[in-house]
Formats: sequence, structure tokens, C-alpha cells
Amino acid sequence: MGLRLGIDLDGVVADFNRGWTSAYNDTFGAELAPDMVTTWDSPTELTHFTDMDAFWDWARDHGGHSVFRHLEPYPSAVETLCALEAEGHELVIVTAKPDWAVHDTLRWLADHRIPLRAIHMTEDKYTVECDVYLDDAPGQVESLARHRGTTATVCRFVRPWNHPVEHARDVHDWNEFHATVRDVAGTLHHAT
Ligand SMILES: [Mg+2]
Repeated sequence: MGLRLGIDLDGVVADFNRGWTSAYNDTFGAELAPDMVTTWDSPTELTHFTDMDAFWDWARDHGGHSVFRHLEPYPSAVETLCALEAEGHELVIVTAKPDWAVHDTLRWLADHRIPLRAIHMTEDKYTVECDVYLDDAPGQVESLARHRGTTATVCRFVRPWNHPVEHARDVHDWNEFHATVRDVAGTLHHAT
């Protein structure tokens, strides 16, 4: 059966850390690498910005566009989303974005031809009803697991900046997410 899949973008589909570290290196002559980002607040630990507000002020404007405009997708991300859509699942992008990033995000989704059917830009991700969720943000995984963990499958995309959460299923890569969705779809199919 077709499932409604709630998919986060940054840290899951879009390589935000590669994007911002590369932009930071270009602007400030630094030598940051994406894998140096290991905590949720890494920008304040790795850059001269002393708080996240200052970081976001910088990230919102790079010659007329934000840092969200030119991110690379993670390997296998777009291919797996296309495969899931071809298998009959409905893809819903559920992403928390600041107001100033909305249009760059829409352009990015179009550029990469992400096979989506709906987009929700909200901090309250649990209010978007889905059968399966995939997210990397520690707070969002906890919130999704708390509100949806018993009725939906909440997947934590395992990253250095998150941790195991009760009622959330760990997913290490896109192949494992693909297998998880197939597993859930098969279980629900047999249950009906
Ligand atoms: Mg994320």
C-alpha cells in the first residue's frame, strides 16, 4: 500500500553542513570540512560567530540568495525518493525553515526535481500527519516520537548531532530507509 512519507530536508536530503562550511571557507578563508560538524550548535564552535543568530544573519544573504539555495543533495537521497514515489508512496516535505529561506527552498526542490506532493514549512512537524517520518534534528525526532511514535513510524536519520530516541527507529542511510518503508508498507498490508 502507498504510504505518506514525511521527509525532512537539511541533514537528510540536502547537505546543509557541506553547503555552509564551503560558503564560510570562501568568505572567510577558513578550512572547515563538513565532517567537523558534530553537534547541533557546531556553527558557534567552528566559526567566529558567537551565537546562532549571528550565524543565521550571515547565512541568509550571499549575494542575493541564502545558503539554502546551493546545497548538494546527499548521495542516493534523490534516487531513493524517486524510487519510493515510483513504488506508490506519497512524498511530503516537512521542513523547518526561516521565512527568508522559503523561496530558495522552493527553487532548490524544483532544481533537483524532488518528487514531492506537498510541502510543509513548520517547526511543529508532528502536526503534519504522515505514516512514516524521517528527520535528523534531535528536538524534532523527540517531538515526532512523542506525538506520533505509537501511531506512525518515526525514523531518526543517524547523524553525529543526534542520539537514540525512544519510539524512534534508527536509519543509517538511504538504503536502510528504503527497506524500512518497504517493511512498514508490507506490515500494514498484511494487517488490513
Ligand atoms: Mg534536518
